Parts: sequence; structure tokens; C-alpha cells
Amino acid sequence: MWYDTVMETLSGPQLINDSKTPSGRVHVGSLRGVLIHDALFRVLKDHGFETRYTYGIDDYDPLDGLPADAGPDIRQYMGFPLCNIPAPEGSTATDLADHYISEFLGIFSELGVGAEIYRMRDIYRSGRFNEAIDRILRRADIVRQVYAEVSKAQRPADWHPFQVVCEQCGKIGTTEVTAYDGQEVTYHCRKNLVKWAEGCGHTGKVSPFDGRGKLPWKLEWTAKWFTFGITIEGAGKDHCTRGGSRDVAEACLRAIFGITPPLNVPYEFFLVSGAKMSSSKGVGTAAREIANFLPPEILRFLMINTPPKRTVNFSTDFDYIVKLFNEHDRLVESVGSGKATPTQGKTLQTVEVDGRHTAYHPVGFQLLTALLQLPHLDVQQEIEKRIAGGLSAEDRAILQRRLTAARYWLDTYASEADRVVLQESLPASADTLTATQKAFLKLLGERFPEQALSDDEYQTFVFDTARLTPLGQKEAFAAIYRVILDQDKGPKAGSLFAFLDRAFLVKRFGEIRFGHRAFWQETGLDTAEASVWLGSHPPVSCTAVTALDQDTSPALGVVELTVRLEDGKTHRLRVLLQDVGDAADFRQRVQAWSQTLAGPVAVALANV
Ligand SMILES: [Zn+2]
Repeated sequence: MWYDTVMETLSGPQLINDSKTPSGRVHVGSLRGVLIHDALFRVLKDHGFETRYTYGIDDYDPLDGLPADAGPDIRQYMGFPLCNIPAPEGSTATDLADHYISEFLGIFSELGVGAEIYRMRDIYRSGRFNEAIDRILRRADIVRQVYAEVSKAQRPADWHPFQVVCEQCGKIGTTEVTAYDGQEVTYHCRKNLVKWAEGCGHTGKVSPFDGRGKLPWKLEWTAKWFTFGITIEGAGKDHCTRGGSRDVAEACLRAIFGITPPLNVPYEFFLVSGAKMSSSKGVGTAAREIANFLPPEILRFLMINTPPKRTVNFSTDFDYIVKLFNEHDRLVESVGSGKATPTQGKTLQTVEVDGRHTAYHPVGFQLLTALLQLPHLDVQQEIEKRIAGGLSAEDRAILQRRLTAARYWLDTYASEADRVVLQESLPASADTLTATQKAFLKLLGERFPEQALSDDEYQTFVFDTARLTPLGQKEAFAAIYRVILDQDKGPKAGSLFAFLDRAFLVKRFGEIRFGHRAFWQETGLDTAEASVWLGSHPPVSCTAVTALDQDTSPALGVVELTVRLEDGKTHRLRVLLQDVGDAADFRQRVQAWSQTLAGPVAVALANV
């Protein structure tokens, strides 16, 4: 896994850090950094590293854009530090920053994220950054040089990397510092410094310490690394470009403080798509929304199992979500079966909310969404009945979370085409099935077991019946979904059979009509093809039935062979003899063919 590679380079105590500016509802993509760092935190502790994980709320940053959900009143606060802006009406938060970050931090505890939270307002106001601010301002010349050399940005000769909270208008985004005398900075609140806020024109001289202003965020990064002793901090790939903000922050750390920068774990974008997503505006998909939907272990799996260097193209479309759950469940099953690699075991622990894995039996997301849509079914009760030995407390908790997720998906993201509707009568589209598919369904009804079976036993029953038709598995399942759900796909058929009424299924399959001639033509082999097949699949036993169809002249002869192979599986072969004269001619041709064969097939044919 990616975190093993990261770990190889480390020694001594570790401090992992990540941060977020609370300038609006937090997008789900921001959870990627949170969980990548959390996975590292867990793995490092597990390997005996003395490790802390801190998460900073950058709430001294200015409001530099209108939050998508904010009212027009917010405009007057453009340029203010986020923590100095009142919370929206009706919010219980102390201020705007607190309002937005509270929702995000609520998810941390649900996901079992072990970060210690700190707020930049407290760091600045408590004076913890005073030393870093003083040293950076004294070496403003070096910062200007780094900007010019690393990011090719020219700053005026009197530019200083600091922004004061204007004593007259309260804005921080509009001020510019032009001098530092070791005690105080000289600043100007400029009308046109930025496009998104207007300064008041005030000029003044003030101490830069104890929260009277802040460093620009590239230098804030530098100051955090120096002050806190951060050893690992990953960053989104947009910050990690050559000459980008990460390069600037690292160069300043080296030049001013003589310190080696923390280990970077660059990570790629997290993109969201889905049929129901195109309509959302502004923030896109809030982290809270996805955390309301996905169970925490699935959300952790999504963020941690994808290597940081790969883009996540998250989608709320059904196929994507089903695949996500199934991939997670395969990991659970492989660990449960004892066949997992040590890395898989470690990944699963990292994915679990409380950091340890207790065996459980996950019920697939696709099946749950289907069952929830079947009328008159108490899904939880039905599932309890069908799990051998009953559900453990862990199973029950997981099932509850999945039922919630499946309901949420159906209510929020499902399109009409995604819906599963149990067809009360045989759908008209059943006509589009091939004669072979229809014959398969008919046979399914005739062979349907009297006694209830498990999901897997029903699934085996479907495979067996498909071989006895014969029909490919894909076409067989498509036929089942067509006549029950009027769709060409669906949840595991064996599971559907287990939850649906036997009489309903037998009746439905019994209603199917098909033309025998078309069925024979579709499935029939000639004697040469059949000989080749029998040569490569030598049977251990064989029975043969013949039929002579004299509806046409000359007639069509059919030999149906039911053969058992060494693996215990039974197959059916249908051999067609064209242009048959009469019964005697038919028998003679069958005999002639049988003489070219050996073993049980030859014996069976000799007796027809
Ligand atoms: Zn001002």
C-alpha cells in the first residue's frame, strides 16, 4: 500500500498536519486529505512511531468569495478574517468560520478521525506565532527573493509578507505592510489591492504580534512547520506544482529557519459526478451530504484504498456505488476467510472506524436496494432469518448502516431507470427474449426446488439449469431479470429467489411460451460440432432422448444428450439432423454417428 512506501523514509517521533480554510460548506473532496493523513497516523502508531496528528482551522484567512449558501448581507464582510464575521442567522455557531467548520468536524468523530484540532485565531492571538512572524518579517528580503526565484513573482522592494487587521475597517484582505522596525509594522488599507474587497484607505503603525494580523498563507505554512515541528504534511496536487505554493513555503523554511521541510504526500483531485449531481450549484457536494449517505467504513475505504496519486472519480450512479461496496466487501471476505495478505489486513483495520476489524457478513448494497423496493417485505427481518447462526451485534450494526445508505440512495440519487419494480404480471418485453432464453425460464419453473434454499444454492440452481438448456450464464440471468423486473440487470438472482415467493416465481416462469423449432435451431449443433465438444469434454455418463419433427418435409431429427462430466456437472447438448426421411432413416443416421463415438455416449445412442 502507498503508506508503506511513505513509512520507509521515516525515523523518530512524527507530527502529521493538515488544515482547511472554512470559507463555505466544506466539499467532500476535502475529506481526502483528512483521511490520507489519518491512515498514515494509524499506520505509524501501529509501527511503534510516537505520532500525533493535528488539524488546523485556517480561520484567520479573509473571506475572499461569497459562500454558495450565504445571503446578500455577507457582502459587507468581504475581506474580514473569517473568524470575525458573524454566523448566519439561526446558526448556533460563534462566527462564520465556526459555522462552516463545525459541520465538517462533526464528520471527523463519525469517521473515527484521530486529529487534534487547533484554530489559527488562537495560535495568532496567544502569541505562539510571534517568533516566526518576527523572523519572517526581519528577512522580508529573503521572502521577496524566494518569490522571484521560485514562483517568478516580483514584489515591490518594500513589500512585507504580512497582513494587518485594519484598525479602522476590520478587513485583513485589503492591507499591505511596507515596513517593519522590529516592533511595529507600517501598513496601508488599500482600496484596490484585491478585486473581491475594497480597503478604507487607512494607514497606520501597529505591532504584528498577538493576533493583530496574519502571514500570507504560504508563509503561514512555513511558520506552522517551524513553530509546531511538523514532519509530515501532504497537499493537494494543485499546491504541488513546480514553483507553486508548496515550493515557496519550503524554500522560505530552508532559507529563513534552516530547517528541512516536512515530508510531502501529494494527492490527486477528488471529482464528483452522477446523474443527480449536475444540477447542484456552488459548493457541489458537501462532505456532510456524502457522510449522510455512505457508512463511515465505506467512506474511509473510498478515500484510503485509492492511492493518493490517483484521481478519485466519485459518482453517485448505481454501478459506481455497487462496485464501491463490493470492493470493500471482497476485502472483508478475504480477511474473514484467512486468505488475505498482511497488507490487506492492515488496510481493513485502517478502514474500520475504530481501527480494528471484527469479522462480519456484509449484505451487498445492490441486494439491499432491490429488497427495499419489494412490496410487503421487512428487509431486516428477512435477512436475519436467512443468515445461518443469526446476526452478530456487529452484523446488525453494519446492516443498519447499509439499510440507511440504501434508503438514502433511493431517495436522493436514484433515477427512474435505477428503480427496481417487481412486475405483477409478465412484462410485454419478455417477447424480445430468444427462444432459448424462454426455454431456459420454462425449465427453471419446472425444476424449481420445493424447499427453500440459500442464496448460493439458488444461484447454483440457475447455473445448472442454464447448462441443461444450454444457455450462456449472461443470457440466462438477463432472461430472469427481464421477466421479474422488466430490466436486463439486477441483484444476484439467487438472492432474489430467496426473498421472493416460490409460487409467484413458478407461476411466472410457467407462463412463458416458446416455439420448439426456433429453440432447436438456436441451440442445435450438427454431428461434427457435437463430436468436437464431446472430444474435449469426455462424459462419465450419458442419457439420450430423440425427437422427430415431421411438421416439415423433409423432417428434422433432434438428439438430446444429457452428459455428466468428471467435475460432477451435467450439460445438455442438442444435435440436429437435417433432411431426415422417416423414423427408420433417422434411427439409421443416429446409429451411424454413434459408431464414430466411444464410451457412454456411444452406448446411450445405440439404445435409442
Ligand atoms: Zn481599512
